Amino acid sequence: MPTMIESEEHKSLRAAVSTFAKSHPRTLGADTEQFWQAAAKLGYIGVNLPEAYGGGGGGITELSLVLEEMGAAGNPLLMMIVSPAICGTVISRFGTEAQKQDWLPTLADGTRMMSFGITEPDAGSNSHRITTTARRDGTDWILTGRKVFISGVDISDATLVVGRTEDARTGKLKPCLFIVPRDTPGFERRRIDMELNAAEKQFELTLDDVRLPADALVGDEDAGLLQLFAGLNPERVMTAAFGIGMGRYALSRALEYARERTVWKTPIGAHQAIAHPLAQAHIDLELARLMTQKAAHLYDAGDDTGAGEAANMAKYAAGEACVKAVDQAVHTLGGNGLTREFGLASLITASRVARIAPVSREMILNYVSHQTLGLPKSY
Ligand SMILES: Cc1cc2nc3c(=O)[nH]c(=O)nc-3n(C[C@H](O)[C@H](O)[C@H](O)COP(=O)(O)OP(=O)(O)OC[C@H]3O[C@@H](n4cnc5c(N)ncnc54)[C@H](O)[C@@H]3O)c2cc1C
Repeated sequence: MPTMIESEEHKSLRAAVSTFAKSHPRTLGADTEQFWQAAAKLGYIGVNLPEAYGGGGGGITELSLVLEEMGAAGNPLLMMIVSPAICGTVISRFGTEAQKQDWLPTLADGTRMMSFGITEPDAGSNSHRITTTARRDGTDWILTGRKVFISGVDISDATLVVGRTEDARTGKLKPCLFIVPRDTPGFERRRIDMELNAAEKQFELTLDDVRLPADALVGDEDAGLLQLFAGLNPERVMTAAFGIGMGRYALSRALEYARERTVWKTPIGAHQAIAHPLAQAHIDLELARLMTQKAAHLYDAGDDTGAGEAANMAKYAAGEACVKAVDQAVHTLGGNGLTREFGLASLITASRVARIAPVSREMILNYVSHQTLGLPKSY
């Protein structure tokens, strides 16, 4: 078992990303594209993609570390969860040579971005129920369906859409992945008005007889679930890193405040009612990070099954740690916790994303109950 303690290279990558992210303060929305491109130029966005296609040749270990440090600096890039981690991974593991050459160098250098659409209004957490259907028309594919809560479709050159084909032999439906360029006829988006103060927007998508060429299909149409999880496990690890980064950021702001703010004889941080919950938040974030490192390590080592369980647990732990750290940070600032000036209140909604997406707390508890503990299912 290789050591869980980070290498010197990883520590210096953390330090470099942290300095970079702190020196590029973004006003929400406005500078996100420049920040993304500056990060890509430094090799951060494509750090997990193969060197042969312009990437850094690292893995989800390095990519998650980059996202965590950006978040800890108050500067996370949500689309890193999607573009390099899900789409880049799926294309590099299962794409054709032509798809790799077409997409990977531009995903790595920041000139193009890809979003990912699996969630559907009538399926939600039950992705086995998705109905976006791909049917053949000659060599083309025709895609029909609806998606919801898909992040960053407006700023992405294409969306990797999860659909399903009808299997003539068994009558079963199987998931498969299609690259749908943003301006394809019949591919429409409507922005969802989210109560989130983030640069990345969410969209409802309709696919109305969207015609795609044969080479829009990524991977084998019969190997759907395996390919899907090759992308979904990195997504969970990255969402964990996103939550840990946000939690660390909130905690650091609360600590600054608790060291200074004095309303009796000592700074409020000397009161254990303030100090202990902050210490607990720190411990929870550290524990979540350890599980995230384990999941990333297993994934990068090629253990998809082990990574699946660890990625779920890491996402659960990080989501809970993030929500608690933000809650306590806001509380530590008293009334200032709710002002725009201090900027922590908006993290209350933002932190909830780590608890609900891409797979909710309850669905992870279900997974652990059934898969790990062998308990029967209620659904
Ligand atoms: C900001 C944001 C960005 C997102 N970006 C993307 C994206 O880019 N691409 C994408 O495909 N999706 C995206 N999503 C969607 C996200 O993955 C879903 O919201 C999530 O999977 C939950 O699905 P749902 O919202 O339909 O909730 P539902 O499935 O309707 O669940 C509602 C509640 O019921 C609980 N529940 C459901 N089933 C069970 C059960 N069997 N046992 C116990 N409890 C249960 C859930 O835990 C949850 O609390 C995003 C969501 C958000 C909020």
